[in-house]
Amino acid sequence: MQFIINKMVLNNQTIAHIRKDFPILEEKIYNKPLIYFDNAATTQKPLQVLEKIEYAYKHLNSNIHRGVHYMSIKATEAHEEARDVVARFIKASKREEIIFTRGSTEAINLVAFSFGEAFCKEGDEIVISAMEHHSNIVPWQLLCERKNLKLRIVPINDKGELILDEYRKLLNERTKLVAVAHVSNVLGTINPVKDIISIAHEHDIPVLLDGAQAIPHIAVDIEDIDADFYVFSAHKIYGPTGIGVLYGKEKWLNLMPPYQGGGEMIDKVTFEKTTFNSLPFKFEAGTPDYIGSTALAEALKYVENIGLDAIVHYEHELTVYATEALSTIDGIKFYGTSDRKSAVISFNVGNIHPYDIGMLLDKMGIAVRTGHHCAQPLIDFYEIPGTVRASFAFYNTKEEIDVFIAALKKAIAMLS
Ligand code: PMP
Repeated sequence: MQFIINKMVLNNQTIAHIRKDFPILEEKIYNKPLIYFDNAATTQKPLQVLEKIEYAYKHLNSNIHRGVHYMSIKATEAHEEARDVVARFIKASKREEIIFTRGSTEAINLVAFSFGEAFCKEGDEIVISAMEHHSNIVPWQLLCERKNLKLRIVPINDKGELILDEYRKLLNERTKLVAVAHVSNVLGTINPVKDIISIAHEHDIPVLLDGAQAIPHIAVDIEDIDADFYVFSAHKIYGPTGIGVLYGKEKWLNLMPPYQGGGEMIDKVTFEKTTFNSLPFKFEAGTPDYIGSTALAEALKYVENIGLDAIVHYEHELTVYATEALSTIDGIKFYGTSDRKSAVISFNVGNIHPYDIGMLLDKMGIAVRTGHHCAQPLIDFYEIPGTVRASFAFYNTKEEIDVFIAALKKAIAMLS
C-alpha cells in the first residue's frame, strides 16, 4: 500500500531512500544487519541533523543572547529560529510559550517545582495515571512530599486504556493539576487527551501532557487540544540528546516562579533583590543548548518534510503487520490492546523471562527493549517481571519485521 498524504509517498522505494539518511542503520551487530526496534527509547538521527550539529559548531558557535559580535548574533538567531520551528511544529501561536529544557524529564520537574510553588498547598491533590513513566510520577511525588499533597491515580482497564469514569470521580476542588501521558511508552495507548483536558477544564484544573512518546507519531495541535503544559524530548524525534521542550500557556508560566537561577533568566540583579526576565527566558537559566536547539529544529523540519500524516499511516501499517504476525505465536500475551495505539508492541511469551528473549534477539542483530520500561507501577499492575517491547519508526520495514518474527520463533524454541 502507498501513503501519499501530504508531501511524500511512503513505499518501499522511498523508505529505502530515507534509510540512507540514517547511517547507523548500516551497522552490523555480531555480523548481522542491525534491526532497530527500540525507537521508543530513542530514535536514530538523520545525516541532516548530524551535519547541522557539525555546521553549528564550525560556523556559528558563540554564546548567545549576550553578544554584540557577529558570531554571537548568528548563534542567537539560530536558537531563536529553532523556537519558532518548535512553535510551528506543535502549532503554538506564541513563541514565548516554548521553553527549552534538557528533555521531557526536566520539563516535568520544572512544572512540578514551579507550579507547585505557586499554586499548591497542604491537602491539595495531583492526578496522574496508572500508565505513567517514572518521569511523570517521581517529580509529583517529590512535590507531594515537599508540600504534603496527595497523589491520585487514574486506573486503567484490561486493554490498557484510562477509565474515564474513574478519572471524572477523582477530580474535586482540591485537585490542582492533572498530568498524564499523551501516549504510553509501554502500552502504546493513545490517550483521549481532548476529553481528558475538557473534563479537567470544566473544573478549571490545568493539564500537563507528557508528549515524549506522542511527538514522533502524532501531529500535535497544541491549541486545538488545549493542553496547559506539553513536554517532549528531541532525542525521541530524530534530534539530539540533552534537549527538549516545555510548552506552557503564558497565563500559567507568568504566574510561576523561576525553576533555576542564573544566566539569562534575570532582568536586574542586586545583592538585595533580583528581578526576572520575561518569557521564555525566565525559565532558561544558564547557557542554553543552542547547538541542540538548532539540531532539534533540523529534526523537526526533516519530519515535516516527510509529513506526519504519512508517517502515522505507514507506522500504523507496520504495527498492524507485526501484531498479526506475533499473534500466530503460541502463548503470546500482549500488553496494550487499545484500538487507538501508537507504534509500540509490548508482549510476553508463556513463562519465558523477557530478558532472555531480548538477549537472544540481540545476538541475532535485533534491538528490542525488555524490562519495566521505567513504568514499574504499570508492570506491577500486570504482575509480571516486565515485557519485551518492539517499537517502530518510519525507517523500519516489513522485511525487518519478518526477520524479527523468525528470530523470535527461534529464541522461543531455544528457551522452551
Ligand atoms: N515520558 C515518557 C512516556 C517516556 O517514554 C520517556 C522516555 N522513555 C520520558 C517521559 C522521559 O524522557 P527523557 O528521558 O528524554 O527525559
